[in-house]
Amino acid sequence: MNYEKLDAIVASYRDELIANIQKWVSIPSVQAAPAGENAPFGAEVRRMLDTALADAKAFGFEVRDIDGYAGDISFGSGDKTMGMLAHLDVVPLGDGWTHDPLGGEIADGRIYGRGTTDDKGPALCALYAMRAVKEAGIPMKHGVRLILGCDEETGMSDMRYYASKLQMPDYGFSPDAEFPVINIEKGGINLRLSKVTGGEAGAEIPVYSLYAGERPNVVPAEAKAVVGLDHIALDELSARLAEIEKAHEKFRLSAAAAGEGRAEITATGVNAHAAMPQGGVNAAGMLLIALKELGAGSAGSENGGGSKNAIAVLADAVGMDYTGRLLGIACEDELSGPLTCNLGILRYDGNEISALLDIRYPLCGDEAQILGRAALTAAPAGLGVTCATSPATWTCATSRTSTSTSKR
Ligand SMILES: [Zn+2]
Repeated sequence: MNYEKLDAIVASYRDELIANIQKWVSIPSVQAAPAGENAPFGAEVRRMLDTALADAKAFGFEVRDIDGYAGDISFGSGDKTMGMLAHLDVVPLGDGWTHDPLGGEIADGRIYGRGTTDDKGPALCALYAMRAVKEAGIPMKHGVRLILGCDEETGMSDMRYYASKLQMPDYGFSPDAEFPVINIEKGGINLRLSKVTGGEAGAEIPVYSLYAGERPNVVPAEAKAVVGLDHIALDELSARLAEIEKAHEKFRLSAAAAGEGRAEITATGVNAHAAMPQGGVNAAGMLLIALKELGAGSAGSENGGGSKNAIAVLADAVGMDYTGRLLGIACEDELSGPLTCNLGILRYDGNEISALLDIRYPLCGDEAQILGRAALTAAPAGLGVTCATSPATWTCATSRTSTSTSKR
């Protein structure tokens, strides 16, 4: 094979490839209602799929439209097929851009726009790689299929649909991550620990509410609790928090008046991604530990239930531990590293306390085992354990493929 020839062919695509990235990026293929015929993810995603398949067809490839859920582009044949899995949908455009998110403007050697790297640019590079191999006349041992999904960002229903209708490739890769290659993905499971508490009346330091985090996959940098000052003055509370702060590395705690007879305690940590929790300091876990050490909670006895018990149990079962050791779910293997466990969301509204954990487990891990072990630790203390995809649904679903150690 003459690789110089291949290099020259690839180089000759440069301007056209850039122009096509700009064209694809100009289509705001954000999933949106209403769904239409052959457009389950809305009109703009449909338009993006039409554009992509038309471009591929113009290069002489065979294309298929899988009812608007995905498209695929095939070249060559053999007893096996290699897949390249990319996607055409993008997350909402969002604010704070320095360039038009649909403009594809070039500045400092970069193309700016939503989808340039995730994942329209890589999808087009894969398509042009197929075109280069075809143009160079390289003999193919196997078939190649570029699969372009339309629902990667919101639930992967595109690939479930595709796999239900067509045979998946024998092997493949996804040009949708970090350079140069990620060859293992951790499994992902969200667990919700919860307990209905017994109220606060009469407690020495009653806790009325807890709040930390908005997303399970972020290490929360701030956590707040509203507590009662019936039996303790604000000065005394602040002094005790200062003692707790001194006793723990990285603890930052403060208290401020919050209306009649109440104070708000704030724990301050450091944000990080749940896949790399070691880089952060979990404020929610810090708050639980601080409240436990204050003896704050409900009037219920240690054994009789109530939020005091629940706060102490959560502090003991999770706290600031991101390895899952306290919950009894820690595991590690040489290939994929250690399990990570992030307390991403903490809520208490005076009735139910709940903690949402983002758990990423290595190849040696297993969803049923994690759920079972967590329940074994949490259930005797009266905590319920359920799995959840997101705080909005709290339904049970897990996935080995959609959560990676590096993909955001
Ligand atoms: Zn992506």
